[in-house]
Amino acid sequence: MIPEIQYIKGIGPKRAVALNKYGIKTFWELIEYFPRRYLDRTRILPLNNLSKDAEVTVIGKIEAAGVRRGRKPVFYLVISDGNGILEAVWFNYVNQYKTMFKVGEWVSLSGKVNFYRGFQMVHPDYDKLGDGDFENLINTGKIIPIYPGNEAFKKVGLNSYTFRKIFHSILSSHVQEIPEVLPESLYNQRNFLPRQESFRNIHSPLEEDYLARSINRFKYEEFFFIQMMLALQKQHTSKNEPGYAFENPSVKLEKLYRQLPFNMTTAQMRVVKEIRGDMKRPHPMNRILQGDVGSGKTLVAMMAMLIAIDNGYQVALMVPTEVLAEQHYFTISTFLKDMDVMVGLLTGNTITSERKSLQDHLNSQDPLIVIGTHALIQENVTFSKLGLVIIDEQHRFGVMQRSTLLEKGIQAHVLMMTATPIPRTLALTIYGNLDVSTLDEMPPNRPPVQTYWRFEDKTEEIDVFVMDRVDKGEQVFIVYPLVEESEKIDLKAATENYSQYKKDQFARYKTALLHGQMKSEKKEKIMRDFSEGKIDILFSTTVIEVGIDVPNATIMVIEHAERFGLSQLHQLRGRIGRGSKKSYCILKTPYRISETAQKRLQIMTETSDGFQIAEEDLRIRSWGDFFGTRQSGLPVFKIANPVSDQSILQTARKDAFEIIKNDPHLRKEENSQLKEYFILHYKDKVKYFNIS
Ligand code: ADP
Ligand code: MG
Repeated sequence: MIPEIQYIKGIGPKRAVALNKYGIKTFWELIEYFPRRYLDRTRILPLNNLSKDAEVTVIGKIEAAGVRRGRKPVFYLVISDGNGILEAVWFNYVNQYKTMFKVGEWVSLSGKVNFYRGFQMVHPDYDKLGDGDFENLINTGKIIPIYPGNEAFKKVGLNSYTFRKIFHSILSSHVQEIPEVLPESLYNQRNFLPRQESFRNIHSPLEEDYLARSINRFKYEEFFFIQMMLALQKQHTSKNEPGYAFENPSVKLEKLYRQLPFNMTTAQMRVVKEIRGDMKRPHPMNRILQGDVGSGKTLVAMMAMLIAIDNGYQVALMVPTEVLAEQHYFTISTFLKDMDVMVGLLTGNTITSERKSLQDHLNSQDPLIVIGTHALIQENVTFSKLGLVIIDEQHRFGVMQRSTLLEKGIQAHVLMMTATPIPRTLALTIYGNLDVSTLDEMPPNRPPVQTYWRFEDKTEEIDVFVMDRVDKGEQVFIVYPLVEESEKIDLKAATENYSQYKKDQFARYKTALLHGQMKSEKKEKIMRDFSEGKIDILFSTTVIEVGIDVPNATIMVIEHAERFGLSQLHQLRGRIGRGSKKSYCILKTPYRISETAQKRLQIMTETSDGFQIAEEDLRIRSWGDFFGTRQSGLPVFKIANPVSDQSILQTARKDAFEIIKNDPHLRKEENSQLKEYFILHYKDKVKYFNIS
């Protein structure tokens, strides 16, 4: 019998509570708490075998730990494995390290061996192993699993050592009860081990080859079931729902096309064609358009709008912020001014009479475009003839489920747009049954933005550079971080810095400060002034991240760039380089920043390709961090990484789709285990499907 986890040997009520909080409530969830990595004991060097400059991994017990004060404080550890000793030192975050290591615990350290009054490692990678019986372990010749930890686990003594013991015990007594989930022919074909063997090997590996096959199997499983879910959903896509067929020739679209001050890119043409094809069919379009910042998504959106308008329908364009709604309103009304199309703006600032007049038009089925925030659909605006919903900067909302619209009785075509482009296979995984269009080409004559990373001690030079460009007639953004947790402090810092500059260095220029706490009219005025060239240097928080389009803005200085995420930096940088002039982005940071921050900044200086940046960002950050919350409706992975494991993903996808194609309701005997597992774990994640 499978026990409740608190009755498992080595767990007990206290540890069960800690595990519970982390989302591990059942035996099945527990056994899928996979190691983060492994130490191969055959590659661990005894401490009496070190030599200078060797790159090694060692393990030992902490004999001493502390801070040496001096000109610069240093945190040190001394470890011993019974054969010899080694010192490790850290020059950064000394106080954090101090609280992290305890004498008597075991650690593994990896890095290069130096010699400084004895063998030493500077800033090694480390894994804390707990206070188990490692002396014994070193001599048993195993691959040692290292489990991810957290504060709560630490408090109740759950560490790599205790996890190893727990898994050792439960796997020996319950392994027979773990069911297989994949058809045998399938796991044989993919060279996986049976499921029971895979669990044994992933938690207590004896041999590298078996371990690798087990890891691959569990990665595959994660992808496989998600792909199966998608395959099942695909049978119930919007392609079967009734929708509006927009067959009228798009007179206004043609007119806009002829009036454009530039040629459309080939990618824009292709995507408009894809959208037009969708909208012609009597089923709702359900498409996501991904394209890097500046790839020209707005124009594509406008063309889709005109198709709906030409067919007598209403359009809702939703954006994440009011600032962006206002800018879109401005851009779109300008582009469409000769097109005889009504464009309305609905935000918190829309005055009552205007709101009422717009609502009247909406009620009387007049074709028109309404631009607003997400509240457009959710709140009290009613459309009497809604034919198209466009959601811009979709990544800010999370994936909008069509079901939300359907519940409101909306049969409209849906186009989502995102500036976080990701590789195609990934897009297929993430966006599920949405059709994906990609703008993979930038409008011509846009030299890439030159990006530099500079320390704060270069501030004066940067200021001089900024002034020089302004003297040449160009405009500048200076961006400050504003993170939720420390919003007040950040805002204060930004405001103070601004007043200082205004009084001092930049006194002879026109400057302004823009942040999210301002009244919308004020924000709008500042934005408009900036885009009309009435402001030279705009100090701003990240509110400019989405929106503002000012071709004359050529310089962006990002203060405390180490505090921004990679994709966010890329989005910000996308605000410049929108004209034909050469543009510069300067990432300013303190001298000492974390390694991951260094990596981010390095990538920013090396590439401006949004696809590549998104991929790198995914590699550095966890999947969940990248796409925001768990609530976003995107899959959460325990072991697989959709970026680095793309080939496994592709295989799993192919296999899952094949199975559903041959057995759409999973009724075949060979798929019975698979079906059982799927129903248990995935059923509530899918709204419409029918396999029972
Ligand atoms: P994003 O994809 O980031 O939303 P926008 O739609 O705001 O990008 O377009 C960025 C800028 O490029 C706008 O000023 C837009 O008018 C311009 N633009 C769009 N398409 C083209 C094109 N084919 N050629 C030249 N400029 C274009
Ligand atoms: Mg845009």
